[in-house]
Amino acid sequence: MLSDLRTRLQLGRQSPAAGAPPRIAILGAGVAGLCMAIRLKLAGIESFTIFEKSDGVGGTWRDNTYPGASCDVPSHLYSYSFAPKSDWTRVFAEQPEILAYLEGCADRFGLRPHLRARTAVTEARWDDDTAEWQLTTDAGDRVDVDVLVSGLGQLNVPFYPDIDGIDSFEGMTFHSARWNHDVDLTGKRVAVIGNGASAIQFIPRIAEQAAHLDVYQRSANWVVPKPDAAYPDKMKTLFARWPVIRRAHRAQIWGLLEMRWPMFHDGSKKAHAMEKVALTHLEKQISDPALRARVTPDYPIGCKRVLISNDYYPSLVRDDVALITSSIDRIVADGVVTTDGVHHPADVIIYGTGFQTTNFLAPVEITGRDGQSLHERWAKGAEAYLGVAVDGFPSLFLLYGPNTNLGHNSVMFMMESQVGYVMRAITAMQRDGLTAFDVRPQAMSEYNRGVQAAVHETVWEAGCRSWYKTSSGKVTNNWPKTTAAYWYKMRTTGLGAFNRRAARRPAAHAAR
Ligand code: NAP
Repeated sequence: MLSDLRTRLQLGRQSPAAGAPPRIAILGAGVAGLCMAIRLKLAGIESFTIFEKSDGVGGTWRDNTYPGASCDVPSHLYSYSFAPKSDWTRVFAEQPEILAYLEGCADRFGLRPHLRARTAVTEARWDDDTAEWQLTTDAGDRVDVDVLVSGLGQLNVPFYPDIDGIDSFEGMTFHSARWNHDVDLTGKRVAVIGNGASAIQFIPRIAEQAAHLDVYQRSANWVVPKPDAAYPDKMKTLFARWPVIRRAHRAQIWGLLEMRWPMFHDGSKKAHAMEKVALTHLEKQISDPALRARVTPDYPIGCKRVLISNDYYPSLVRDDVALITSSIDRIVADGVVTTDGVHHPADVIIYGTGFQTTNFLAPVEITGRDGQSLHERWAKGAEAYLGVAVDGFPSLFLLYGPNTNLGHNSVMFMMESQVGYVMRAITAMQRDGLTAFDVRPQAMSEYNRGVQAAVHETVWEAGCRSWYKTSSGKVTNNWPKTTAAYWYKMRTTGLGAFNRRAARRPAAHAAR
């Protein structure tokens, strides 16, 4: 099977005579880290280690176990092109099935021996003399590698809001990305803070259990219907027997999602059409005009992530659910007080407040050439060349890095392009005996000028608060063009923008 895939991906097994492979550390065993590891494995490169803070693979799909967790991108596209699954049970698979798929990939491609679980890399320091990344783990171990690949992505550190009195609450409290399954919500008064992509998935489920649910909405979201359905057995069989049909299905999903891209240009026909779809959905599901008005966004569609749900609005019209749109003033021992002076009692507070999305690579202190800190470098907003490299940080490659997130299509598609590009750099290092790959500052700044110019034409800078941008308003997270444009760019851009250094040490061993 691996040899078939090698042929399809045109990777070819590396000849040992071509030079020893570099030692590679991959940070994180999530969707991106696993993708990188599989592609290395398929290229016959074994000298890599995946450092993972949790006890297994899956990343965000391991962390997010809240009730109703599912992907809002259809599963046939939210899966690796080189590891298709014919028997996805539904269009939008739920978290257990996605995690099982990723676990299966780890087994199928033989990644387990490369996994160092329960080990977080806390520090990475570039040594210019030896051209190595010196890593320190949370156990205090030191590991030296030639190439560092971050698969930490954008959604791995939960964000807790800075609300007065947050620590004074005496009931149970947890974040949606760290769901506490020991807390039985049956018969409890529950407060949910936030109404983003995560919250709208678990609110309908927990509304069934709680005696009363308060949903705190700071701003409304655009919500469109979720075209979900179970795949009939006949269709799964068809996909398995005729891969061409499965591939056509995947391509069709990609094409339909790609057609939503013009929505991000304010005033476009697509934006009007999408707003109409969302408003019709709202009118169908909520008849009370006052409630409708409170959940109608006051900013253009696409400015924040467009949510898909068929059961969120119906949950808000339940007698035992209240939507609270007054701002939160403070949290007290037994509940939440809003700025209108109302005290809302609660036994449990659940934070559906998202992630620290603009602090890329936050869990790792990264120091590049000349003692330069990556976090200081990014103080005004993260940026990278093609989303994958930063000048002054040689042989560091980012997956799902700055300006590579999407609001309309599958980030897995983007990650595969990034991994393909990084593979080209790694195979060039091996082939030519290079020690360091450092993007030229000019290429980096030119690229990012172009990205930001394209961002200015989108709706993301319109008047909404979103996780796509920093507090000062710089859009650091999203790719401002189509996924086809990114794919083409990654496919056609060579490695010419990188300074390379020759004469790597002869011996290379996996970083274990
Ligand atoms: P999010 O979209 O960032 O939502 C956070 C929510 O918390 C927002 O409603 C926000 O209000 C609110 N909030 C933050 N600080 C607050 C404060 N101080 N007071 C009151 N409310 C506050 O986070 P998320 O729902 O976890 O989703 C994040 C991303 O994860 C998604 O956009 C998506 O890309 C990904 N995700 C994906 C899936 C999937 O199916 N693939 C599922 C879940 C999540 P404002 O809107 O006013 O800022």
